[in-house]
Amino acid sequence: ICVAVPKEQTPAERRVALVPEIATRLVKLGVKVVIEKDMGKSAYFMDTAYQNAQLVDTAEQVYQQAEVILKVQPPTLAEIEQMKAGTVLIGFMAPHHYPERVAKLRDKKITSLAMELVPRISRAQSMDALSSQASVAGYKAVIMAADLASVFFPMLTTAAGTIRPAKVLIIGVGVAGLQAIATARRLGAMVEAYDVRAATKEQVQSLGAKFIDMPIKAEGQGGYARELTEEEKQQQQAILAKHVAAAQVVITTAAIPGRPSPKIITQAMVAGMTPGAVIIDIASEGGGNCELTQPGKTVEYQGVIIHGPLNVPSQTPLHASEMYSKNLFNLLSLMIKNGELQIDWEDEVIVGSTLTHAGEIKHVPTRQLVE
Ligand code: NAD
Repeated sequence: ICVAVPKEQTPAERRVALVPEIATRLVKLGVKVVIEKDMGKSAYFMDTAYQNAQLVDTAEQVYQQAEVILKVQPPTLAEIEQMKAGTVLIGFMAPHHYPERVAKLRDKKITSLAMELVPRISRAQSMDALSSQASVAGYKAVIMAADLASVFFPMLTTAAGTIRPAKVLIIGVGVAGLQAIATARRLGAMVEAYDVRAATKEQVQSLGAKFIDMPIKAEGQGGYARELTEEEKQQQQAILAKHVAAAQVVITTAAIPGRPSPKIITQAMVAGMTPGAVIIDIASEGGGNCELTQPGKTVEYQGVIIHGPLNVPSQTPLHASEMYSKNLFNLLSLMIKNGELQIDWEDEVIVGSTLTHAGEIKHVPTRQLVE
């Protein structure tokens, strides 16, 4: 079969779907690999590094040859237009953001697998791009915080006096939050963390951070959080306010599947912070965890810097691409037997990941949204 990779079209997306090492592994499986010129360049993978791949000049040539297309960002309408019926497309699809694109994938009879839909079961862990990219985001959020902060992270003992370590608060301890805790600890900060899921307490403590206990238990379905009630929100804010006020850096990562980001840090809580403090809100993609976050912008309120970066994993493009490419490979390998494409429609990972197939939207919540 032919697996082909076009250059990403989304502005500011620097991650790429195929790195040279994975291209070689695909070739070993008996696959023909085709890449568009400069496909890997934004993540510093030059064309010459893809020794086993065939290089083509235009996206059109990619789409003509492709039986399987690998991508990072959801395809644009113009990209879908160029795909042949029956092509298998694998990448992020953000189906709830782009219902018209999903409808077009359906109408063009594309078999699309959405990386967001890969079931979060043990067998699919190596294919879980939400996790791999969240861990990049958690790391980078701390680096951004250290950059914007007015203080050092580590304790320093110098002839000019002793510097106390920074107090860092992490809100939301999923995959991104855990990586943020680990990274802030490595930089020497004193870290506190909080999540509505009680199961996170042990994980926080094992990373050498302090867990903020609250009487709220909000485990939802499938190990995710559920939305809090009004009463619980107020209770949460009352307890968190003093921890937020004491922190020099706050990193927020809280999310609820399929819902806007919960607003956890109010304007009043920001007003209670010390000037020079920094909030890095990596939930800003979903609207943000802080009332003052402006997604994609850095704003200042009474001396507190509120940074709401978008597409954080793209800002560590080389490693984010390596991890993402490996996730794609592990999913795609399920569908390749003896160099041929053989999709097992009984496999729960494939079935669960499929967004559209044979002229139908297979993912029920998306179908309800689109049709
Ligand atoms: P996520 O990105 O959906 O959310 C981030 C965190 O925000 C979660 O921990 C959530 O509990 C928390 N949160 C939501 N509302 C909050 C609020 N009001 N206040 C504070 N925190 C709030 O989550 P994620 O990182 O994708 O992972 C969530 C869970 O899924 C974790 O338990 C993770 O270990 C699990 N997981 C399992 C697998 C697997 O088994 N294959 C893979 C990945 C993740």
